[in-house]
Amino acid sequence: MSGREQFITVLNLAKKEGRNFLLEPECDEILRAYGIPVIDSFFVKTQEEAAEVARKLGSPLVEKVVSPDVVHKSDVGGVKVNINGEKEAADAFAQIRDSLKEKMPGARFYGVYIQKMLSGGVETIVGATRDPQFGPVVVFGLGGIFVEVLKDVSFRVAPIGLEEGLDMIDEIRAAPILNGVRGMKPVDKKSLAAVLVAVGELLIENQEISSLDLNPVMALPEKAVAVDSRIILG
Ligand code: ADP
Ligand code: MG
Repeated sequence: MSGREQFITVLNLAKKEGRNFLLEPECDEILRAYGIPVIDSFFVKTQEEAAEVARKLGSPLVEKVVSPDVVHKSDVGGVKVNINGEKEAADAFAQIRDSLKEKMPGARFYGVYIQKMLSGGVETIVGATRDPQFGPVVVFGLGGIFVEVLKDVSFRVAPIGLEEGLDMIDEIRAAPILNGVRGMKPVDKKSLAAVLVAVGELLIENQEISSLDLNPVMALPEKAVAVDSRIILG
């Protein structure tokens, strides 16, 4: 199946359920179809299953709430990082479940997503929106204060090529951080640029997407991997 065909399938399901956004497993599927590396996530529904996955995956791990009612998972205590071992994995499951109940009574709790915790990288943000005049626009910046406070981002109208993607990365003021600071290795800018190119293609091919947000894409010395994604339908 082509990326477009896979998108149509999840689009129809979202329409049927009255959603204007894709669920995380749906986002992951679409991103992978366009060649964007996405971290492996394991969906569990009980503490026992969480412990079981932890035993298989090793440590450290991250757990995230899975709920169709939650947009920003951290805001509801829905993300636990640095989980080590089966006991902590089971405890984190219960903490996430209880925190959702407390912070958002009435929200549906489906379970949690378990992922390997990545380290040694730089958190970047890759986004795409639709400009009424220019069409699909790809946006790049670094995670945390860089985008939110300093508005340190670069833009290009899609489609873009690899060279343009690399230019976008080098254009932000914080770019030196990607070249390695404080003993950190430089990140793999080519892989990061490939994500920017693919995101542009995704918006061009699928007019039904109004915006896309990969926050963060972990830029590592050997690759770039999306660990959180959001796709909003128009
Ligand atoms: P949300 O944005 O919905 O709150 P995220 O999935 O982005 O949830 O997780 C919040 C933060 O947790 C991320 O910005 C990142 O700092 C950290 N994080 C999430 N997943 C991982 C991971 N697999 N490895 C390392 N850090 C992670
Ligand atoms: Mg996020």
